[in-house]
Amino acid sequence: MPVAVADPAQRPRILVLPGDGIGPEIIAAARELLDALASFDYEERPIGGTSIDELGTPLADDVLAECRRSDAVLLGAVGGPKWDSTDPDAPRPEGGLLGLRKGLGLYANLRPVKPLPALIDSSPLRRERISGTDLLVVRELTGGIYFGHKERRDGTARDECVYSTAEIDRIARVGFEAARSRSGRLTSVDKANVLETSRLWREVVSEVAADYGDVELDHLLVDNAAMQLVSEPARFDVILTDNLFGDILSDEAAMLTGSLGMLPSASLGEGGPGVFEPVHGSAPDIAGRGAANPLATFLSAAMMLRHGLDLEDDAARIEAAVEAALGSGLRTADLHSGREGERLVGTAEMTAAVIEAL
Ligand code: NAD
Repeated sequence: MPVAVADPAQRPRILVLPGDGIGPEIIAAARELLDALASFDYEERPIGGTSIDELGTPLADDVLAECRRSDAVLLGAVGGPKWDSTDPDAPRPEGGLLGLRKGLGLYANLRPVKPLPALIDSSPLRRERISGTDLLVVRELTGGIYFGHKERRDGTARDECVYSTAEIDRIARVGFEAARSRSGRLTSVDKANVLETSRLWREVVSEVAADYGDVELDHLLVDNAAMQLVSEPARFDVILTDNLFGDILSDEAAMLTGSLGMLPSASLGEGGPGVFEPVHGSAPDIAGRGAANPLATFLSAAMMLRHGLDLEDDAARIEAAVEAALGSGLRTADLHSGREGERLVGTAEMTAAVIEAL
């Protein structure tokens, strides 16, 4: 992966951005877990709504500079009704996330989707359909239609979609490397029957494939990919796709697990620190009650150890401990189905159980 790897002679420096809502609760839990595992140096800074309140902006320049100086960034979540506004000039919490992506050049977003055995019946799909699913969505994060020129004039709106060969080449290599470290299959998703950017995408991905003879590549149109994700999710290993399709397909894939509180993500750039965060938002409806599920943040911390700090063994220990805690029947409210053998717990008890299982 094209990320900076921490100097093994130094204690890794982790910049912690708790953010809003349940962010501070799940990040505090993750720090407890990481402390039980090894020694890290932490710095904590505001982002999102909390930063708007303190500093008038969702991401201050010196916080971004601190991110650049760290080995990895662990983020909670941002946003909440307090900062919702229809005023187009009002600062928005999400601006902090976009600022981080842009400021750190995080062009690759990785989202693994693997329903854990203990939670397989939480999936909206039947057990036999979801069984065996273990996939990774690699989404291009800093190009395409989200970043192209936008215009509204005389009752017409326009969003430009631009991709360069270089942008496609570098994200394709992240996808192929990931496939190589997994089961060796890569599905590139585009809309090459209609879009010129997709035709370039397909061309460049096919060229990059020549450097990865050990990876089996297939191309799928995005509408077909959306169908197959629900009809036959276990057929996929790595899904490589652009910014817009990746946004939609990764949320669709996420729901296969049936539990938003379980999904981690990593955003990686060239040579600098990556940002590791749960997929879910700041859950303002449950903030401050000690009820938040910390597991997506724990699994994000595991991704941080694996991709950002080159500590594969510790990453695997966290993942196994999460599985063990769930296997013993503990469930936070978002996972609790009332089945026999389940026990409803809060953030603190779940955290203690995962630490115990370490
Ligand atoms: P959300 O993910 O915050 O919550 C959706 C539902 O899932 C809620 O009922 C919430 O209680 C529950 N939930 C989410 N995470 C949970 C957890 N860890 N444990 C237990 N339950 C959990 O999405 P939303 O309600 O649409 O958005 C709330 C705020 O979060 C908004 O301001 C939104 O903009 C923001 N948001 C931020 C991010 C991010 O920081 N990356 C992502 C999505 C949404």
